[in-house]
Amino acid sequence: MSKLLEEFKNYLHEMNQYEHVVTLLYWDMKTNAPKLGQEAHIEALTHFSTKSFEMSTADKLGEMLDGLAEESEFTALDVTWQFIVRRMKRDFDRNKRIPAEVYEAFVRAQAESGNAWEEAKNSSDFSVFAPHLKKMVEMTKEIAGYTDPGVETYDALLNQYEEGMDSATIDRLFGELKQELIPLVQQILAKPQPDDTAFHAYADPDAQKKVQWMLLDYIGFRRDAGAVGETEHPFTLNFSSKDVRVTNHYYETEPISAMFSAIHEGGHGIFEQNVNPEYDNTVAGSCCYMGIHESQSRFYENILGRNKNFWLPIYDKLGELLPQFREISLDDFYREINHVRNSFIRTEADEVTYCFHIILRYEMEKAIFRDGVSVEELPTLWNQKMQEYLQITPKNDAEGILQDMHWSDGSFGYFPSYLLGSIYDGMYLDTMEAELGSVDKLLAEGRIAEITKWLNEKIHQYGSTRTPKEVIEAVCGKEVSAEPLVRYFKKKYTEVYGL
Ligand code: ZN
Repeated sequence: MSKLLEEFKNYLHEMNQYEHVVTLLYWDMKTNAPKLGQEAHIEALTHFSTKSFEMSTADKLGEMLDGLAEESEFTALDVTWQFIVRRMKRDFDRNKRIPAEVYEAFVRAQAESGNAWEEAKNSSDFSVFAPHLKKMVEMTKEIAGYTDPGVETYDALLNQYEEGMDSATIDRLFGELKQELIPLVQQILAKPQPDDTAFHAYADPDAQKKVQWMLLDYIGFRRDAGAVGETEHPFTLNFSSKDVRVTNHYYETEPISAMFSAIHEGGHGIFEQNVNPEYDNTVAGSCCYMGIHESQSRFYENILGRNKNFWLPIYDKLGELLPQFREISLDDFYREINHVRNSFIRTEADEVTYCFHIILRYEMEKAIFRDGVSVEELPTLWNQKMQEYLQITPKNDAEGILQDMHWSDGSFGYFPSYLLGSIYDGMYLDTMEAELGSVDKLLAEGRIAEITKWLNEKIHQYGSTRTPKEVIEAVCGKEVSAEPLVRYFKKKYTEVYGL
């Protein structure tokens, strides 16, 4: 190893110590720390992430990256370290353009905005959140101006979450979905709906936690590299492939909600646990493409978890842990987990109408960043779009525009990732069945481990080293298209609803 490479690795190691603390503080803030402890956590979090940011933009790092990018050094690196140097140099040049005080102010504003959003949501009062949202929009624009000069702001934001993605491609994909799904949902809603009363009975949260672990074990989330926590909004966080944490929220009368959150976050978690461990604590590890990440959580949640055959080998176990399910047949359970209805809350939506929840948010974001629609106008615009796509109007902002935390921390351009994930899933399913045979059969025979192994080999192990386009090309051998997802929906719901 050259002296320069050794120095570079030591530098990365020190940076990782700060990032480790930041991750741990964030985890504790979200899962454990009491309300009055939040302020000190925010202060410490700001301190350490500023340290990490300073190291990631220090001239010293820039000099090392320049040195390693020189031909004599670069050609001596292995493929992984070539990727790391190239990627870090690109990010370095981008981040270097953000003034340190702007970044620090952004991190603090993010934390304050997150707390204001929580308060606004609890009191269903958009005006509590509005000034913070306005600030997040302004700061996001400002920062994008530094990182991606000359690029249209919203395209720059999309590209930050899903490299290579732009609004022209998303317009095409979402347009295809709108055209096909609006009539499909109309057909479905014209059919009789199942009675769902039995699914809203009391379910002991402790038993729900056991169900969560039963499901995580079943899909292949490793306990020796995993932990769980409880939060308002479920998420996944990882230190490395050896320490991946997922959270859940247990509603006393909505046990199905926590089951599918467990499978969804478990899908994210399995991804992270199976990234090549040699990439740990580098930019090659932990997958940074949100659409690709969602494609994994949503593959487990929807393609597998909402398939009747997924439950065949474990349905009795579910009944042992939550006795009310002993009284419910697997057929009725299957109907309920694929119950299509126009509803207010994105995270509780069925997989078909879910698409409209994302299309709505995507169009809102375009309105904010491209058409200059003001923050004050947003609740009305939200309600108009809910009417347009789902023919319902939220009774308050808590079940409308305030329901998601994403905009509170400035994650504009993130929402489309969820639906891109499902679009990719339609494509993976085609390829997987061509290579492994029927997924129904594999699931019915309890051979889900073979599916997980396929995903490990085709997608997970690469972490961030393959861009979304490269993943789709390598796995499916074609350009991204919404057609397979539409075909999957039509086939499945024709059967479920007898269309
Ligand atoms: Zn997710």
